[in-house]
This record gives sequence, C-alpha cells and structure tokens, in this order.
Amino acid sequence: MSWQGIEGHDRVVEMFSRAFSRGRLEGSFLFTGPEGIGKRSFAFRLAKTILCLSPDGFAPCGKCESCRLFEMKFKPVSEEVVRSEKPLPAKTRRAVPVSGEPDEPSDPLAFDIPNHPDFYYVAKPADRAQIPIELLAGPKENRGRSGLCYNIFRTPYLGGRKVAVIDDADFLNEEGANSLLKTLEEPPRGAVIILIGTSPAKQLPTIRSRCQSVRFLPLSPRDLTAVLVSRGIAADFDEGMRLARYADGSCKNALEYNDPSLELFRPELYKQLAQPRVDAVAFSKRVIEFVEEKKKEKEKAREGEIKRRRLAIVLTRAARFYRDLTRVLSGETSLLAGNIESGADLRAAARNRPDPDRAIRNAERTVEALEQIDRMGNLTYIIEAWLSDL
Ligand SMILES: [Zn+2]
Repeated sequence: MSWQGIEGHDRVVEMFSRAFSRGRLEGSFLFTGPEGIGKRSFAFRLAKTILCLSPDGFAPCGKCESCRLFEMKFKPVSEEVVRSEKPLPAKTRRAVPVSGEPDEPSDPLAFDIPNHPDFYYVAKPADRAQIPIELLAGPKENRGRSGLCYNIFRTPYLGGRKVAVIDDADFLNEEGANSLLKTLEEPPRGAVIILIGTSPAKQLPTIRSRCQSVRFLPLSPRDLTAVLVSRGIAADFDEGMRLARYADGSCKNALEYNDPSLELFRPELYKQLAQPRVDAVAFSKRVIEFVEEKKKEKEKAREGEIKRRRLAIVLTRAARFYRDLTRVLSGETSLLAGNIESGADLRAAARNRPDPDRAIRNAERTVEALEQIDRMGNLTYIIEAWLSDL
C-alpha cells in the first residue's frame, strides 16, 4: 500500500489515520528507525494533512490555501542564521526562497522545507555537532521569546493547528532537550510535535518519556525498489532490486551503494580485511584518500559532513564483512553459496583468520569507530586507531 507516495509503513499510516479520523491526533511524537526509510517524508505528508483546511479523509485536499502554502519551496540556510550575532528572526524556520534557482538534481535525497506559517522545522546544521539551543528557545539575549518553543504557542495563522518537526533528534544536547521538555509535555491544543531520530536509545530519557514512540521499520526490498525507481535512483525495477539487495531497507544506503567511487574502493577494502594482518599504515592512507576524495564546488560547504558520511560507508561495509565472517566461521556456509559481493574475500578471510572470536571483536571495534564519527572525532585518528586495532 502507498499513502501519498509513502511506500511501506502501513502500520504507522493506519495508526495515524485512526487518530486523525477520531479528531485525536495531537501531542508529541518520537519517530525512530534507520536513516533513509522515509520518516521525514512521512512527517511532512502528515503535517500537510493536519494543516489542510478541507482534508479528504486522511489526505490533504491539495487545493486550499494551506496546501498551496505547504508546497511552496524553500531551502535551508541554517549556517548563516546560526552563526550570525544578530537575534534570530521571529520564525524558527531557517529558510529563504529559492527564487528561481533550479533544484539540485544530483542529490535525490535533497528535500524542500515546506513554507507554511503554521509549520516549523528545526534540524542540526551541517557544520554543528548538535542542535543549537537558539533554534529551540531563541538566542541568549532573547531566550524564550523566539525559537520553536515560542512560535508553537503563537496563534495559528490559518486553520487553527500547528505542526513542528525536530529533525536529527539524536543530536539534541541536554540544554536543548531541557528547553523542550515543557513544550513536549503540554503542547498547545491541536498542535503536533514530531521528533525524528534513529533509535530510542539515542534519545535522552526525559525526551523519550514525554513522547509517544513511533517505530519505523526498514523498507521491504519491494517497497524500497518502488522508492528508488520513483526518485530516479534506479532506472527500472531490476536495477532497483539489485540496489535494494544490499541496502538493508534504506534509500540512503542504496544510494551510497550506487556511488561509483565506492564501487571501485569496495573490492580493495574487502581484500585488505581478508589479509592475515591488515597493513594499518598503508591502508590508513587509502581510506583517508577515499574519505577526502575531492568535492564538487557546490559541495564545499558540506565538506565535513560528506567526509563523515564516506567514512561511515567504509565502516558500515567493514562491519558487515566481519559480521558475515563470524557467520561463516561458525559454520554458516550457506552464506557463501549465495552470490554475495564479498564472497571470494570472505572465503580468503576464513582461511587467513579462522578465529571467530577475533572476527566478533573486529566487528565490535568497527562499530565503535562508527559511533566515534557521530561524536565528531578527528577522522584521521579514528581511521588509524581502527585499522591498527584490527
Ligand atoms: Zn488542503
């Protein structure tokens, strides 16, 4: 089933549909699930439906003033606003009109922030480690008189309802979370606040206890294929299924899998991991090269984020390699019978490093390195320390 172009997540659609038809859809929600499975898209469609002035069942009419405003395109300019010394504008939504500039077709995961006076969107700026409290509670000299928590209590412009989406909720710090607690506990009547994170474990207990938890599961290969084709990431069904195979139900993973530079680097990575000893010094250099591969001009501003993402790809692949190796070493040879991309290297690794405990330790060490990226460590250090521990 697909709801407003959202594939999969039928259970979640059903739950919200029921609450909506009973007029009981309000309060604070925590959406969790892996990245790239459609949580944000769902939150935006839900917001449009809630704000619509004459919804058609559990769907927006697409014609009213509210629907029209919701579809107006904006793009984020978070960095400038956050860095500026001046007080933030009254609206929390950090966006400027696109003004005729073409969308960037090169990034199928790019999205527009809806331009609606009763909709607020906050996310972690690309160059920050956390969500700045200014976005939630206003700047220091104006604390409590601007920011999302202030705006959500202002009188709605249109239909009487308000929706706020707090993206990247994994990156709320204690101060930011504290500024939200009262609002999450008692949002204004008819308002809906949605936090989007990857796992409940990454949220502070004070946040978790104040939100209704909504879990999104990875997409099935078939649903993911539909998304990949509709977004132009895959040319057709067959290519979609091929990409979906290693993507763990995530559009983001599928896209990364499709990256030509990764296609070239991946065999090198597996080959190295299969050696009796990883050549830490030489291979660190190669990983750093891959992570720092030169960026297109327009990607310069997001350079740090892109590097972290590329390292995450390497580590995710490596973690999976060790996980598969552990299974092979514990006798699960059926894994090798399937035509998996790392098959030959897994066989070599099983010969060269036949110790399952070591494979488990290496998988854990790789996941640890993956977590260090989130904490914004020095990437070169993370890579060198990781490889020398393998
Ligand atoms: Zn409408």
